[in-house]
Amino acid sequence: MIQLNAINQSVAAPDILSLIAVIDTALCVGAGGSSGSLADKPILRNAEGRLVIPASQLKGRLRHECEKFANALHLPTCESPVAQTMCPQRAGLPNTFQRPDYSIGDVDAARQPRYHCLICQIFGNPVLPSKVLFDDLICSEDPANLPEVLRPGVTLNRRRRTAEDQKLYFLETSPANAKLKFQGSLSIQPSAPPVTKTLLLAGLHHIHALGGSKSSGLGWLHWEFPDASQTAIDKTDWDQLKTGVAP
Ligand SMILES: [Zn+2]
Repeated sequence: MIQLNAINQSVAAPDILSLIAVIDTALCVGAGGSSGSLADKPILRNAEGRLVIPASQLKGRLRHECEKFANALHLPTCESPVAQTMCPQRAGLPNTFQRPDYSIGDVDAARQPRYHCLICQIFGNPVLPSKVLFDDLICSEDPANLPEVLRPGVTLNRRRRTAEDQKLYFLETSPANAKLKFQGSLSIQPSAPPVTKTLLLAGLHHIHALGGSKSSGLGWLHWEFPDASQTAIDKTDWDQLKTGVAP
């Protein structure tokens, strides 16, 4: 089936936000079951061998941070990531979502309007596509210059407060304190709510770490935005966010 709004989207250019995560410590974004390493949890690489922070990881964290902002602004949000508690089902959540700014022309089989919270309008849900497309963040350093770093650890028994027997493991991390840069971008579709970019930038500034073992010092980072014109937010944008999505 041809969807007219999808055709319009492809005509207007998306708003691109380029970003770089600079890793201040060492990164441990891994996946079990990868081969080619001695580690129990090897770090993720793309087909060219470059280190990668997957788009899904950044999207999940950013959605969570944006939910916190929306709640602070008294905008009701559904509970991700379980479909039953997300818009438009929202099982068990109070019915405070029937606001004009949450009605975006979506109807159910009985032609009744379905409401979608601001976060779902931006990040999508099981019936609504995401209005922001995320890239994997890819390490700019040549993999030939990055030695494999294995970090040993032991599983702790919290009740006995001792190390468990036979539970030594190895994490693969990026080299420590190498200030590795991971580059990527977000594409904001023209049909996204007008406050999208403001909310995303605010959320990004609240992400100080990514990946596993953050409490033991892995994955701490700061953001750089190579194009200052892409991150210019004026007072009107902030005011619009404060008053919700309604124009
Ligand atoms: Zn929602």
